[in-house]
Amino acid sequence: MQEQEIFAEDQQSYLPVFNRYKIVLDHGEGAEVWDINGKKYLDFLGGIAVNVLGHNNKALVQAVTEQAGKLIHCSNLYYTKPQADAAAKLVKLSGLDKAFFGNSGAEANEGAIKIARKYGYNINPEKTEIISAWNSFHGRTLATLTATGQTHYHEGLGPLPAGFTYVHYNDIAELESKISDKTAAVMLETIQGEGGVHTPDGDYLKQVRELCDKHGALLILDEIQAGIGRSGKFFAYENYGIKPDIVTLAKGLAGGVPIGAFIVTDKVAAAFKPGDHGTTFGGNPLACAAANVVLDTVPQEDFLKNIQAVGKYFKDKLQELAKKYPKFIVDVRGEGLILGAELAGAEHGRDIVNDCLAKGLIINCTAGKVLRFIPPLIITTAQIDEAFAVMDEVIGKYAE
Ligand SMILES: *Cc1c(COP(=O)(O)O)cnc(C)c1O
Repeated sequence: MQEQEIFAEDQQSYLPVFNRYKIVLDHGEGAEVWDINGKKYLDFLGGIAVNVLGHNNKALVQAVTEQAGKLIHCSNLYYTKPQADAAAKLVKLSGLDKAFFGNSGAEANEGAIKIARKYGYNINPEKTEIISAWNSFHGRTLATLTATGQTHYHEGLGPLPAGFTYVHYNDIAELESKISDKTAAVMLETIQGEGGVHTPDGDYLKQVRELCDKHGALLILDEIQAGIGRSGKFFAYENYGIKPDIVTLAKGLAGGVPIGAFIVTDKVAAAFKPGDHGTTFGGNPLACAAANVVLDTVPQEDFLKNIQAVGKYFKDKLQELAKKYPKFIVDVRGEGLILGAELAGAEHGRDIVNDCLAKGLIINCTAGKVLRFIPPLIITTAQIDEAFAVMDEVIGKYAE
């Protein structure tokens, strides 16, 4: 089928909730993808921080293929080795105690909110409040979009679940004024992704941890985007010297196969009894076989060191670009391979993305004016050079 026919078929049949770019992707290899016309693109978005091992990774394809030939799914009424292995690996890596698998980020966060509510309820039936941050992103289910501190995502969808309040990320005084013994949990992205790549200042997360402890509130860290090695550590919170009570993962966890997870301490785990939560598909052997490849690869010291080195190279190049166009790029932020370049205004974000696409480079613009880079974690410095040659040319055009 030709490109135009696919566009037409999709427009007639698919719920139009995405502002899609007009290319039809067909296959990939490493950090490159090809459209159905055979045009090649360098992929600096990685399926939105999902394809951490790149496209067509041999070990991942083999694990999925072999598992598909054995058992794709069997329900959670039975044990499977891939699931037990994946849970054990996550527990070991996080230093927390129990993992649960769902199918997406929103589901992971939904489960985290539920278990935090139950935990609070057991202490005091009024300990139900969830405090999250303005500008955050936690998902699209009703509870997770309520936790998402961006009101434009809430419009027309009420009544929303009650008991959610918001603070400005990095404003510890505001959190101190809002947290109380009625707070069940404070829920934050360790690094805000969709909101424009915002990292925590200095001791912010340590102070959040202390406030949570003071009020018996749980700290939920959403690492759906920043986790799985992206920040240069397996969990982004390892950069900031703290540990959450609950951490959520999804996106890169199975390298592209749908999965989500929340991991909790034993203290939190005790709030759920058999029957309190569940899922039909979540953590099925196919998804967990894929997750096991990611969990055997990304945490390796060499792999993480490479992310740190390549991430630094990338950030230095962004800073050079910002120096070259100081009126156009006003800030460069991020850690490892979750990087953002904030533009002075929102008028050219989408144009830049479109022009890069035309020149064979996939990037993303989030929060209206932040160019966001969340490539496969196997990206090379040579590919970064290639991307910057394109971006310099494109940005140069608009920066005049
Ligand atoms: C993408 C994302 C989610 C939602 O994940 P889905 O799989 O789309 O439901 C939640 N939190 C963060 C930080 C994310 O980046």
